[in-house]
Amino acid sequence: MKNNNPAGKKTEHSRLLQMVEEIEDYAILTLDRDGNIVNWNKGAEKIKGYNAAEIIGKNFRLFYSAEDLQNQHPDQLIQIAIKDGKVSDEGWRIRKNGTRFWASVVINAIYDETGEVIGFVKVTRDLTSKMLADKALKKHAHDLEVKNKELEQFVYIASHDLQEPLLTVQNFVDLLQEEYGDRFDEDARMYFSYITQSTLRMQNLIKGLLDYSRIGRKKILSEIFIDQLLDIVCLDLKVRIDYAGAEITYRNMPIIMGYEIELRQLFQNLISNAVKFRKRDVAPRVDITARSIADGWEFAVKDNGIGIAPEHADKIFLIFQRLNNREAYEGSGIGLANCKKIAEMHNGTIWVESAPGQGSTFYFTIQI
Ligand code: ADP
Repeated sequence: MKNNNPAGKKTEHSRLLQMVEEIEDYAILTLDRDGNIVNWNKGAEKIKGYNAAEIIGKNFRLFYSAEDLQNQHPDQLIQIAIKDGKVSDEGWRIRKNGTRFWASVVINAIYDETGEVIGFVKVTRDLTSKMLADKALKKHAHDLEVKNKELEQFVYIASHDLQEPLLTVQNFVDLLQEEYGDRFDEDARMYFSYITQSTLRMQNLIKGLLDYSRIGRKKILSEIFIDQLLDIVCLDLKVRIDYAGAEITYRNMPIIMGYEIELRQLFQNLISNAVKFRKRDVAPRVDITARSIADGWEFAVKDNGIGIAPEHADKIFLIFQRLNNREAYEGSGIGLANCKKIAEMHNGTIWVESAPGQGSTFYFTIQI
């Protein structure tokens, strides 16, 4: 039903005004064309600290800092609102008690029937806690990044410098063996073999650390045909694959954006583990698949090997963590830590689903 009753219209209008006045989370005020305050709601009182009686008639420039006033910031906002009909802004404003709050402001122009600007509606939100939380989060992320870089630098320098004395030990062990080897008795020969094995192992560990710290140093993003990349990986692993009688299958692999050298290393580690941790007397079968996910790809490398107990599923991605003894399965325990770092470089994650004796499926995502 059409309401032509002007009195009815008036009550509707005053009800609306009443509603605006009651709103507490937003400061909603009207200004005349010069920026003098005409209306003031509860939210404005709560956020800025003035009550209606003491603020109505004053100019909205009161809320701005001396610096903003010097830069004529409020006048610029008014000018934009007149020109464009609307302006938004964020910044520090001053409360009645002199404290600051972070304001998110929208100013809309009000027009008369002829289209002339006669004033403004200004809506302000106090986003101080959100702004401080955002700032703290940013600082935390920045600190973490700095710490991470320092740590990587430390690992790099430490592993690099550790190589030197180790090489000296190795050289003198070789010299001793060469020059005095024929005078060694059985025990001395055995001790020497332990020293040689340990230095070799330490050399491998240090090299592993150095390689780990180098991942992602020179990132080159490119288009990668995963089919072709896997062809190369399988060729590189051919001797091991043939020796184990392994069968590696993959088809319909996607073309993705990624870091090629690192992705090659990731697949190489997963495939060589799938072949290495095989069951005795069972030929390894490794099936690689890919599926499209919301913002990238999920790859799965499934094997029929010895499997992993669920309680170890997270541990294996940490550096130097191994589940089997060195005699049964060689390795330094750094491969999956590298894979994790590479997946994370691609904004992805890596995880395993497995059970002892049931084979394992390693999943990783690429979200670039
Ligand atoms: P490495 O292979 O040098 O031992 P990794 O970091 O590649 O080191 O793997 C860590 C450990 O996770 C391995 O020592 C092994 O115990 C376990 N693991 C990795 N891949 C597999 C797999 N496909 N099947 C069973 N166990 C695995």
